[in-house]
Amino acid sequence: MDKITIDKLKVFCNHGVYEEEKSVGQNFYVTAELYLDTYPAGISDDLSKSVNYAGLCHDITRFMQENCYNLIEAAAENLSAHILAENTAVRALDLTVYKPEAPIGLPFKNVSLTIHREWQKAYIALGSNIGDSRLILDNASEKISAAPEIRLLKKSSYILTKPYGEVEQEDFLNGCLEIETYFSPQHLLEFLHKIENEAGRTREIHWGPRTLDLDIILYGDKIINGEFITVPHQDMHNRMFVLEPLCEIAPYAYNPVLAKNALTLKNELLQKV
Ligand code: ATP
Ligand code: CA
Ligand code: CA
Repeated sequence: MDKITIDKLKVFCNHGVYEEEKSVGQNFYVTAELYLDTYPAGISDDLSKSVNYAGLCHDITRFMQENCYNLIEAAAENLSAHILAENTAVRALDLTVYKPEAPIGLPFKNVSLTIHREWQKAYIALGSNIGDSRLILDNASEKISAAPEIRLLKKSSYILTKPYGEVEQEDFLNGCLEIETYFSPQHLLEFLHKIENEAGRTREIHWGPRTLDLDIILYGDKIINGEFITVPHQDMHNRMFVLEPLCEIAPYAYNPVLAKNALTLKNELLQKV
């Protein structure tokens, strides 16, 4: 992808853990590497199709001066969220905050932090079979779409499905969301768990009744086999209640483990039943 770089913008501001840092201030430097497609601006010679780097330099300066954080981690995280929110053409960002005058008491050249944030497309399966399921799924989608780290791109219709597994229970209402997020998969899952908890989710019986279940089905083309997270969802190809709503919004969403898209998986599952 193409890249625009702002290299070591100097900003005098007041971030730091110590009171004196907050009151006296010091010089920070910010490097922002913005990844985007500059082709539309390149062929049209039109600034509105790219990032106005002069405007962005002033924006970064203002942001760093108007906010006050203890940690450069917080300064970088919040500045990155601000840049991504304000510049929708930017697909990814490497942001470095340098603090060469940090009160360390030893000779050193620089300290810095670099973070990488990147929009990734992901699919989330929604399910509920306790309470007002339609309202619960609607509330969950709203909370997901309200997070600054997430953009809701598409929402499937809800379908009524028979429970999966052996447990006797009510029918489920299921749906699927297509999102873009710069949450990591782990942080996305934590965020989804928080929304499940707020909906009163408990975990007594495996595959038992629940107010709300939010599963990450796909996250970009990432394959993750962690202790607490498996992506793509390991059983998606066996679940019509996942594939049906997924195919409605994204038939070509690709499972990199099975090397097949959602529509193929759905057709294969239809053959089996
Ligand atoms: P299933 O995952 O088979 O649909 P479930 O949704 O009923 O079962 P939960 O009790 O909701 O299971 O989740 C159990 C654990 O699964 C969670 O604590 C979570 O850490 C883990 N997990 C692993 N991969 C994923 C994923 N892709 N999406 C959601 N949870 C996941
Ligand atoms: Ca599930
Ligand atoms: Ca789950």
